[in-house]
Amino acid sequence: MRGAIRPGDVISYFEMCAEEGSSLRRGMNYQLRRKTTVILMSVRPGAPYKDRVEENGRVLIYEGHDNPRPTGGMSPKEVDQVGSNPDGSATQNGLFANAANGYKSGIREPEVVRVYEKIKTGIWVYNGLFLLTNAWQEESGSRSVFKFRLELANQERLPAASATMLEQSRIIPTAVKLEVWRRDGGRCVMCNAKDNLHFDHIIPYSKGGTSMDAKNIQLLCVRHNLEKRDKIE
Ligand SMILES: [Zn+2]
Repeated sequence: MRGAIRPGDVISYFEMCAEEGSSLRRGMNYQLRRKTTVILMSVRPGAPYKDRVEENGRVLIYEGHDNPRPTGGMSPKEVDQVGSNPDGSATQNGLFANAANGYKSGIREPEVVRVYEKIKTGIWVYNGLFLLTNAWQEESGSRSVFKFRLELANQERLPAASATMLEQSRIIPTAVKLEVWRRDGGRCVMCNAKDNLHFDHIIPYSKGGTSMDAKNIQLLCVRHNLEKRDKIE
């Protein structure tokens, strides 16, 4: 049994959907049934969107989503991303942009976003809680796309209800995650377990350990990760 999900936890697609109480079929999910907002990202080579990790894992720049059914026989990658549907309702791009603009103009708190990342087929990592602080449109090739800025949530800025869900930790870049996964063979380095794995900082972030170097990251099962945390705390 895993308990509350923490940044760095490795989960299956099914576990991710169970965690969110929703079958997640798209990358952007504004206020699901439980009013939580969820983003699925993928920064692997060949991933369909150009998501970026910046500022040592503190900031994600997430690309908006394509118009799934453009008219005129164009492919979704050839046309502008849109903020509203033909009936005038907001697309996911529009919902996220409205939330970001509301925050920028001071009429609401930033939307809290739970971010998951696909590192391999069927293998997802929870990257933690982020705040949606900005949205804009920019040119990408011959078309216009949405971009969203997500900042790692700080405890002080987080609405009280979410504070207990937070464990402060910088996001581990995808390349580092993949290197660690390969090196450790997708198993706990202590017991070879293949389930309930966690990307563990050997020297914790709070004690100056880095997220940017595979040498400071290892795979641990939930049991060995908790044992280690008990020793450190
Ligand atoms: Zn273990």
